Amino acid sequence: MTETTEPTRIQVRGLAKSFGDHQVLRGIDFESRRGTSTVLIGPSGSGKTTVLRSLNVLETPDCGVVRIDDVEVDFAKLPPGKAGRKEGARLRAQSGMVFQTHNLFPHRTVLENIIEGPVVAQGRPREEAVADAKVLLDQVGLGDRVDAYPSQLSGGQQQRVGIARALALKPRVVLFDEPTSALDPELVGEVLAVIKDLAATGWTMVIVTHEIRFAEQVADQVLFLDSGVIVEYGTSAQVIGDPQEERTQRFLKRIL
Ligand code: ADP
Repeated sequence: MTETTEPTRIQVRGLAKSFGDHQVLRGIDFESRRGTSTVLIGPSGSGKTTVLRSLNVLETPDCGVVRIDDVEVDFAKLPPGKAGRKEGARLRAQSGMVFQTHNLFPHRTVLENIIEGPVVAQGRPREEAVADAKVLLDQVGLGDRVDAYPSQLSGGQQQRVGIARALALKPRVVLFDEPTSALDPELVGEVLAVIKDLAATGWTMVIVTHEIRFAEQVADQVLFLDSGVIVEYGTSAQVIGDPQEERTQRFLKRIL
């Protein structure tokens, strides 16, 4: 937990989303400051992943505003067609997503997987992207596996490559969608340790996880969601250590 007076990096106001008749988000508001970790916890189906995917415009909320640094999208006013897609893409470029499974290109080496985004999508010089990728691979503990293919790596190592790949785009915010839920239990720790290290080096992160002990250690801010609303938020000591709301208490009792 770090006290911070850093500027707001993420601002979310009034986010709402329905799938057909099912209202999945019912007005989500929160802010994250630069260099902090925000962890979303809550029962399965409460809307955590939909919040995360909305930040990255993988889902388009029905209304609400998302701002990441100086890029703001008001979803109720998003123009139709190409103009709307362009606005969405600007917001998407502010964040990098780490998914449950890594989706690495199987026929490309670890290094090639990581430099693809910076070189092809961002047009950065290859040598610069390679140098950055090597630093990132060192950071995730895979500096010696640059030339390996994904199939030669364990699931935990593959997920760490997935993290390096998201960071290689130099996003303002890194989003983690249950980054360890597809891993065998013995591989979870190494991935969580990498995420904890990244939090300590100043990345701004939003993390959806069921790993409550990890959430407790990494979060500057915990949001507890239930049925599409933030029921309780605060520091991990407040929300996990001393929950005030009955729904939070019940959830934590069930999973701890
Ligand atoms: P959580 O991450 O908390 O488990 P989600 O955000 O994944 O919750 O899902 C919230 C609810 O929205 C769930 O009931 C889920 O079935 C529903 N949902 C999510 N995505 C879709 C979709 N693309 N189409 C229809 N329903 C969806």
